[in-house]
Amino acid sequence: MRIAICCDFDGTITLIDTGKALLTKLSEKDWQYYDELVIKGEIGTREALVHQWGTIDYTTNEEIMEIVDKIEVDPTFKEFHEWVRKNDLKFIVVSDGFVSYIKRILENHNFHSEIEIRANDMELLENKIQLNFLTPNCEHDCANCKYEHVKNLKDEGFKIIYIGDGLSDIFPAQNLADIIFAKKNEDLAKALEDDSRLNIFSNFSEIISKIESFEII
Ligand SMILES: [Mg+2]
Ligand SMILES: [Zn+2]
Repeated sequence: MRIAICCDFDGTITLIDTGKALLTKLSEKDWQYYDELVIKGEIGTREALVHQWGTIDYTTNEEIMEIVDKIEVDPTFKEFHEWVRKNDLKFIVVSDGFVSYIKRILENHNFHSEIEIRANDMELLENKIQLNFLTPNCEHDCANCKYEHVKNLKDEGFKIIYIGDGLSDIFPAQNLADIIFAKKNEDLAKALEDDSRLNIFSNFSEIISKIESFEII
């Protein structure tokens, strides 16, 4: 069986959400308001991100990296990543964050190898954050269409193991995953609590044991 593991980054691989940490430190406006609009279904996450990052009036690369460099990776992710490589499993990171900070955080924690990342990116234009969307034409108004990235693998014949925590993980996990791992007490776990594919996890060691117990590898 060909297995692909599709894994969220912020709050799943990292201990806290990098985007939220940056917005909390750099924005003086009410950026959380746009999360509420997403939860109410009034706007999509792509529109929300444009508004949220637009609330930062002025920043610098140094200021951003100072915050990014304090973000911690779950200590059990290293063991998990080695296990993924040992078993020769397809592994991709799907994220609503930015490629630039994801790479930086992974490098800070000595992951120098070829982790595949499907995420948006940003650049600073006159000290304002500009977003570059990876899937700008997604019909669901996703900030980054995790659904599309996972669907491509499913269409190639992979069985999908989806690992995540947040709101942007619900749609791809619910519609495409064969096995779902949702971080304990977070939005994905709450949304799919009656789903038979759901497994709750607190750290990546638990995910290894659980997948091994399924005897699919
Ligand atoms: Mg997340
Ligand atoms: Zn989409």
